[in-house]
Order: sequence, then structure tokens, then C-alpha cells
Amino acid sequence: MSGERKEVAQLGRKIYDKRLVAGTWGNISIRLEEHQNQFAITPSGMDYLKLEPKDIVILNLKGEKIQGKKNPSTEKPLHRYIYKNRKDVNAIIHTHSTFASAVACTRKKIPPIIEDMVQIIGGSVRTAKYELPGSEDLAKSVLTALRDRNAALLANHGAVSVGPDGETSLKTAEILEKSAKIFLFSKLIGAPQKLSEEDVETMKKIYKSEYGQEG
Ligand code: 13P
Ligand code: ZN
Repeated sequence: MSGERKEVAQLGRKIYDKRLVAGTWGNISIRLEEHQNQFAITPSGMDYLKLEPKDIVILNLKGEKIQGKKNPSTEKPLHRYIYKNRKDVNAIIHTHSTFASAVACTRKKIPPIIEDMVQIIGGSVRTAKYELPGSEDLAKSVLTALRDRNAALLANHGAVSVGPDGETSLKTAEILEKSAKIFLFSKLIGAPQKLSEEDVETMKKIYKSEYGQEG
């Protein structure tokens, strides 16, 4: 059993426990370390609390099944398309988290308003043009919205976060949800003020070079 299948199942429980999804919606994938053109993905419509490593499906970048008995997530085009076009991405988390989805219903972007958001996501969060769930068109519109970013909103649907590994994509999904919440709450009081482009660039650099314990 590949380590990636185990990690996808564990991340499933985490996004459920953190209330980034409700019911069986949302999906997760991780690119295989040994086969860069394959990824492990959650099965479609399965209870996160019952998810086991054996339920996770392995697909190649054409969307063909390599391993697993279950039907893969209906959002396999989205995951496949991102891995094909973003070599820096090894883990994708698609959530239906409440506050991110609320902003996504307005089809507007979240401006760069808060420190952790700009550091980990890379700036404003764009909303991808509305397309039907599971469609190739949705995959294309999300990839466009993800340009130079690690997260995007899906119009009238939810959110996606990407990163170099599962834990980073999970952290990004949490920061995205928090940012959407802050954006909506600050709008209740007045107009949220954007950070300047210069400060955003400085914070991104500091995050890469100085933040945390490594290096
Ligand atoms: P799956 O259960 O097929 O992964 O679909 C859930 C979803 O979020 C569709 O957009
Ligand atoms: Zn969805």
C-alpha cells in the first residue's frame, strides 16, 4: 500500500474534523513520489470517517485507473489538469468550506487583506469562472484562477488549495477559510483595506526566507 493512499485517507478525516467539508463533498489527492505522472485520489461520495487507504484510487495523468476498486472522485479532471500544468504541486484539496463558498457565490475575489493569506496563498484569491462540477471546463477555469497562487475559489461551489505536500495544502485550505471569514466580517464594519503590492511582495519573501524553524 503506497504511503500516499494512507496520507489521503488521513487528510480526509482532518478536513472533515476541521469542518472544511460537510457530508461527502470535497476531495483530496496527492501526487505519487515514485511515479510523478500518477496520483492518489479520494473515491467519489464516500464518508470521510469510513475512508481507509484501500478505498483511495490511483490514477494517471490521463485519468486512467491504475489501482483501486472504487470509483474515483468526479473531480478527477480538476486534479489531473492541475498536476499536468503545475509541476510545483504535489497535493490538492478541494473543499466546500462555508466562508470561502460564501465569497465564491459573489464571484468576486478576496483582496490581499491579511498577512498569513498573502504569505501562503501568494496574494488575492481569484474566483474561477462558473462551470459545472466535474467538468473539463471547470478544470481549465480553476487552473487560470490559480496562476501564481496556491488557492482559488470556484464560483457557486467551493475552494481549492494546492501545495508541495499534503500538510501545506491543508494549512492553505484553513488559511483560505479564515481569510474569507475575515473578509466577510470586515465588510460588516466598513470597507476592508488592501495591503499594498509592495508589502505583499515583501511578506512573501520574508515567509520564504525567514519564517519558521528551517534553513
Ligand atoms: P466527489 O465525492 O465525487 O469527490 O465529488 C464531491 C465534489 O465536491 C464535487 O465537486
Ligand atoms: Zn465540489
